[in-house]
Amino acid sequence: MKGNTGFRENYGDWFRMMESKTEKSKSGKLVIPGDKLATIEEFVPGMGSASLGDSVVSTVVGDVEPDMSNRVINVKAVKSADDHLPKAGDLVIGHVDSSQPSMAQVTIIAVQDEPSDKQLSGMLSMREDRRRRTSSPIKAGDIIRAKVISTKNSIYHLSLDDPKTGVISTVCSNCGGSVIALSRDRVKCKECGFVDERILSEDFVKYSRGQMS
Ligand SMILES: [Zn+2]
Repeated sequence: MKGNTGFRENYGDWFRMMESKTEKSKSGKLVIPGDKLATIEEFVPGMGSASLGDSVVSTVVGDVEPDMSNRVINVKAVKSADDHLPKAGDLVIGHVDSSQPSMAQVTIIAVQDEPSDKQLSGMLSMREDRRRRTSSPIKAGDIIRAKVISTKNSIYHLSLDDPKTGVISTVCSNCGGSVIALSRDRVKCKECGFVDERILSEDFVKYSRGQMS
């Protein structure tokens, strides 16, 4: 559960808002997307969770329900977004499946903070503003928040043109260690010191400042 407190602080107001909105969680172990639940040596990810580096992290707001006999960790979502398809302007949370310097393929795992298990694919476009990139500022395996800009032809077009959007959970692409933000678009590995490019959400940047002080 290392790092869990930091992620809580990271989400601050949003977490408190969700807590009041979703009543009391029965087990009292309410987690939010990006919370570290276990290591992959201890558990494999099940419903509502995903592997990230050597950790299993939550992808939804819900209660942790470890299945001890099968070593599977599930998070039972407090809400279901089954009927909620993303529309333009919505914020979604996605798992990055593959990425290139200016675009990435994403599986949408939550819509407006409500979990979705529809396996919807999103196409993320990243503007090449300040400089020409040679590598992607979003890596496969990252968990991101993005804004839906259009749903034309049933394709969910996503962008990172909002301070809330960007990477919310990532690991070092050199060694898999945990990273902190150096700025809005740079991370540094706490283990090996590797500095890499990422487009970070403001939450991640705030969380990192807390880690450094
Ligand atoms: Zn590293």
